[in-house]
Amino acid sequence: MSSSDCEQSVVSVDLEEPPGSSSTTLTLPLFSLSLDSPPDGPIHSLAPREVVAPRRPRVISRSRDFRRRYFPQATEGDWNDWRWQSRNRIRKLEQLDRMLILSDDEREALVKGESMLPVGITPYYMSLLDREDPMQPLRRTVVPVTGEFVRTPGEADDPLGEDGHSPTPGLVHRYPDRVLLLALDFCSTYCRYCTRSRVVGHGEIMPNEQRLEKAFEYIRQTPQIRDVLISGGDPLALAEDKLDWILGNLRKIPHLEFIRIGTKMPAVLPQRITPQFCRMLKKYSPIWMSVHFLHPDECTPEATIACNRLADSGVPLGSQTVLLKGVNDDVEVMKSLNHKLLMMRVRPYYIYQCDPISGSSHFRTSVSKGLEIIEGLRGHTTGYAVPTYVIDAPGGGGKIPLQPNYIVGRDGDDLLLRTYEGQVYRYPDPA
Ligand code: SF4
Repeated sequence: MSSSDCEQSVVSVDLEEPPGSSSTTLTLPLFSLSLDSPPDGPIHSLAPREVVAPRRPRVISRSRDFRRRYFPQATEGDWNDWRWQSRNRIRKLEQLDRMLILSDDEREALVKGESMLPVGITPYYMSLLDREDPMQPLRRTVVPVTGEFVRTPGEADDPLGEDGHSPTPGLVHRYPDRVLLLALDFCSTYCRYCTRSRVVGHGEIMPNEQRLEKAFEYIRQTPQIRDVLISGGDPLALAEDKLDWILGNLRKIPHLEFIRIGTKMPAVLPQRITPQFCRMLKKYSPIWMSVHFLHPDECTPEATIACNRLADSGVPLGSQTVLLKGVNDDVEVMKSLNHKLLMMRVRPYYIYQCDPISGSSHFRTSVSKGLEIIEGLRGHTTGYAVPTYVIDAPGGGGKIPLQPNYIVGRDGDDLLLRTYEGQVYRYPDPA
């Protein structure tokens, strides 16, 4: 399936909050959707000084058709319930065999089943996969292949050396002023290239209070920490009250300024972003969110609604995209992704060179490919659509930014600079 499959069987929507409630304008109607809806038009009337709602996203027939075919008992309400989606994740060969025409390689990988990372795909994300084409970008990211069993030189289970910087279980303190808090190791959908595949999905990092209390205590006792990134696994897989408890505890630490959450939910389970969830987040504002999108086909109407909800709740959104061979290692694909993200009010933030995790050689591109992509973006599109390309230094050195070289030389007191079109300009820069 490609983005062009997003043909519009348009829908109208039930409001989860009562119409006419005090919510100003942007309580966007979301996932309770009835089909065959009214045409485009303003969702709400606008009062003075209210923000104009983004273009109304449309929900497509794709997920409805998929649901009717593979989950005939499920109601539309079930489908739009993130807990139902989570409970009904596709995890077994027999299920995949029914929903996809598996290649020999995929089948062998699933039968072998020795991968470090379990298989798990939400019904929603499965509905985005191409039934026939094993090379479809989204399918490549969630269905295992035998390449996962091939270890090549330089690969490691923990390439970033996180385990060596862990003062308490599930807390990584690598930079002086910030920490990574692994809330749990569960994800609703497992990405085959996951940097944390050594722990993710293995049930070793549980969101139990005792472990988390130790992490809070470490942060409390370490006043130089001003920033915490809550990640996992996917922290948005936690129940609201648990996440509420974590955020509440962190917000009580006076020297902690900045809280970020890393999640792939808006891409793989956008139904998770409910109004109730957004209201809870808002209590702890400012909360920043790093969302994880890889390909323009993930920028669906459902994902758009989820991101709009977060943005309307005052959560700044930045996307982290891993550069993957055969998925997004192409200037036009990356440009299209970044344009769509901007329209979803997500700032493309990083392109990551794929970490050398064990069994990742089939996903990794050369570094020159990443530079070629940045070269193809910078100057050729809106600056906001040009993320920073980074390599997370193996062994734990942190992120190293890379970009094409635009300094072509020096002539006396002038620096010679190359534009994106290849013209050379001088800038006075006395030595
Ligand atoms: S969502 Fe993140 S943590 Fe989970 S499998 Fe994907 S990359 Fe790994």
